[in-house]
Amino acid sequence: MAVPPFLGTIGSEFERVYRRVIAAQTAESFTAYYPNFDRWYEVTAYPAPEGLTVYFRDVTDRRRVEHERHQFAALVEASPDFIGVAGLDLRGLYVNRAGMAMSGLKADQLASISVRDFFPESERDRIQSFIAGSEGGEQVVVDTYFEHLHTGQLIPVSWSFLRLRDESGNVTGYATVTRDLTERNAAENLLRASEERRRLALDAAELGMWHVDPATRATITDARFRTIFGTTEEWTDYLQAVAVIHPDDQPAVLDAVAAATRLENPVPYCIEYRIVHPNGSLRWVMANGRASFAGIGSARRVANFDGTVADITDRKQGEEEREQLVARLREQDQRKDEFLAILAHELRNPLAPIRNGLQLMRLSHGDVDASERTRSMMERQVGQMVHLLDDLLDMSRISRGTISLRKERIDLTSAIAQAIEISRPFIDQSGHELVVDVPPAPIFVDGDLTRLAQVFSNVLNNAAKYTPRGGHIRLSVQQLRTEAVVSVTDDGIGIPTDMLSKIFEMFTQVDRNLERSQGGLGIGLSIVKQLVEMHGGTVEACSDGDGLGSEFIVRLSTDLSGGAPAPLNEATVVRPTAAYRILVVDDNVDSAESLAMLLTIMGHETKTAYDGLEALDAAAAFRPRVILLDIGLPKLDGVEVCRRIRQQAWGKDMVVIALTGWGQEEDKRKTLAAGVDAHLVKPLVPAALEQLLAELTAASG
Ligand code: ADP
Repeated sequence: MAVPPFLGTIGSEFERVYRRVIAAQTAESFTAYYPNFDRWYEVTAYPAPEGLTVYFRDVTDRRRVEHERHQFAALVEASPDFIGVAGLDLRGLYVNRAGMAMSGLKADQLASISVRDFFPESERDRIQSFIAGSEGGEQVVVDTYFEHLHTGQLIPVSWSFLRLRDESGNVTGYATVTRDLTERNAAENLLRASEERRRLALDAAELGMWHVDPATRATITDARFRTIFGTTEEWTDYLQAVAVIHPDDQPAVLDAVAAATRLENPVPYCIEYRIVHPNGSLRWVMANGRASFAGIGSARRVANFDGTVADITDRKQGEEEREQLVARLREQDQRKDEFLAILAHELRNPLAPIRNGLQLMRLSHGDVDASERTRSMMERQVGQMVHLLDDLLDMSRISRGTISLRKERIDLTSAIAQAIEISRPFIDQSGHELVVDVPPAPIFVDGDLTRLAQVFSNVLNNAAKYTPRGGHIRLSVQQLRTEAVVSVTDDGIGIPTDMLSKIFEMFTQVDRNLERSQGGLGIGLSIVKQLVEMHGGTVEACSDGDGLGSEFIVRLSTDLSGGAPAPLNEATVVRPTAAYRILVVDDNVDSAESLAMLLTIMGHETKTAYDGLEALDAAAAFRPRVILLDIGLPKLDGVEVCRRIRQQAWGKDMVVIALTGWGQEEDKRKTLAAGVDAHLVKPLVPAALEQLLAELTAASG
């Protein structure tokens, strides 16, 4: 028996029970807490004659265990996870409230349900193997599914399973804590979807991604970033990435990084730079980024530095090409302006001597010598103007793509002979010596004789023009396998190296100074180049520089077909023309009459007509061999005149030559359809007419 703790019992359960026992004289038992000893006692009080007999049993330990068990049960009940215990037969012994809710289990089903019943059919074998211990260990944690007992809905769960053992180690049952993963999976799915969307956006924009950890300076990059940078590894320090950048661009990149990561007024990181790939190639990159910051006051620091890179090499190249194009167009535009100034100057130059000549002729009063000199001067000046206009005409045709070649199998040397014939007077006037070295055997090419002659005479004229008086010009032709090589050298002023390819561009002259102009428009070589290229050939200029002479080399492929050459073109052999009856039709009376006078002087018999109807009458009455027919005529235009003449028996064999202004290609087509034999461009050059007459009359017999 223990000594009753009287102290501390006053007013407590103890006092109330003791007083009741004494008053009622009946024993009572109770369990109560005695705070002075901090213990629980099971107490039995008996009435005794002298007072009370009280028995105490200390039950503190038992009470604690019970209390803890209660707390534990409350905890288990409050858990959001499925917590359950099963016996050795796997039948349910206990499932907490959350478990019941999750699985749809009712309290009265507990004893009849097996652990396996919580799983869908497809999972049961696997689960059984865990339970049997053939897989996993003492405790397993598996991601699997529960099947709701009523709705059959699948619930993603993390199932942890453990064996319960007694002190001797025998398995006495099983326990589980199973977590519903629905919410976690949904969150993960959201995260994955958002990550996927981010990736798609980066992919669509072809952006690589980078992150720099400001604490360690290490980088995290994605595959596209590493492809752009030509690396396969992550960097432990972002300065290793900077090292890949072109040395010239590195300072700017470092400045931009510093500006983006400074604590005060940081600016967005946005910069374009070049990187040098391991294979040596250069790529243009655009990088964009932002730093984020954490902490306040002196603890403020950069938390993250993230951004993207894009390979902008193609865009940069495009930009560069565009800039070059703009520069080229600007230069061409400027050259065109200069050209117009030169053109005005060049066209005006011959006019003054011609006007002087006219004056001189009026005043010469039959001085044969003076008027002959004046005439030949005027002829030269007019020739110069016609030459300029011809060049202009060709240039315009070439740039509009309306020039067409009359190609046939020709002997290149005859084109060269024609060119020499054209250029000889100018070369002689300039006091140069011309040496021609042409092989005796013909060199056949598929070409347009007149145009090739124009090419070589242009080059010969330049040689004469850009060589000081008394120079030496040499033209040589060689056949090298399948190629004919024509070279024209001079010992003139030469061409600076940087101009060698430019001189073939339109309006380009080495010295554009008007005062020193040699009388050209800077288009001759451009025409030469285009004509040669239309023949499938090439032309190049060589020179050792100022004062060291120049060489122009034209290469054409030879025609090795071996067929008979085209019959010798009569045009190359200018024979004295016979005298013909020629009808000149032009509504410009001065034009018609001066041409008729010229033809009369040349020994022909002429008539004139000034409109279409008059032309028809004159043709019927005069029966000319040749009609020089202007096209734009009053009453009846030249096309119609020609058509009607051809309808007459007497008009079938007449040679009808249309006179056209330059560029009137459409007219030419119409007149050819109406039966015109040939065209000549106004103003008429007598020699060209002579040549054409010889050709046409020979052809038509
Ligand atoms: P143009 O003779 O009308 O100026 P071209 O197109 O024929 O125009 O020639 C372009 C430029 O090339 C000339 O202005 C001249 O500066 C240079 N050039 C051409 N041929 C020669 C040459 N044989 N020697 C030196 N310079 C030349």
